[in-house]
Amino acid sequence: MDAADISQDLTHVLYTADEVQRRVEELAAEIDRDYEGREVLLIGVLNGAVMVMSDLSRAMKSHLTMDWMAISSYGSGTKSSGVVRILKDLTRDISDVHVLIVEDIIDTGLTLSYLVQNLQSRGPASVEVAAMFRKPEAITAPVDVKYVGFDIPNEFVVGYGLDYAGRYRNLRDVGTLAPHVYS
Ligand code: 5GP
Ligand code: MG
Ligand code: MG
Repeated sequence: MDAADISQDLTHVLYTADEVQRRVEELAAEIDRDYEGREVLLIGVLNGAVMVMSDLSRAMKSHLTMDWMAISSYGSGTKSSGVVRILKDLTRDISDVHVLIVEDIIDTGLTLSYLVQNLQSRGPASVEVAAMFRKPEAITAPVDVKYVGFDIPNEFVVGYGLDYAGRYRNLRDVGTLAPHVYS
């Protein structure tokens, strides 16, 4: 018997694995250029940013370090709760460090604006943001996102680290789920 193929649950592919990789490589080159002569600390936001962190960091050619934070923003559903809580903090001090937050997706920007403020208060040399995907609502958020992979429509997407109820993070393509998955 064949194993179930989770890619069959997508109704629409927004970006294929190849398109995602090409864009990640462009971002990496841009970030390398911008940080020339300044070593950057990439801070990945768990769990969604695991894939983009992994690919972006390896596409970069300069010295860098990595750390991770986990914050709660979404439950297991598809709606932003607005509640932000640190579940796992950084393992190191970031004073005088050039910090680049690596995010999977920005929807309302609530999570991110909290995170930027929180990191700013620790006295870093700089704080910038790289996000693989950004939705239209994020434009109203009070956060500058310096590096954006793709601006996408206001739909709930999965794949490339993005989950629905914890699943689908391992899909290489990014797309929307068939209605039957939600019921
Ligand atoms: P925000 O605080 O910007 O509204 O929410 C950001 C977080 O919500 C993301 O890091 C991600 O975990 C989740 N999120 C927002 N939009 C989507 C989406 O379309 N798909 C998935 N899987 N998660 C999303
Ligand atoms: Mg995230
Ligand atoms: Mg999620």
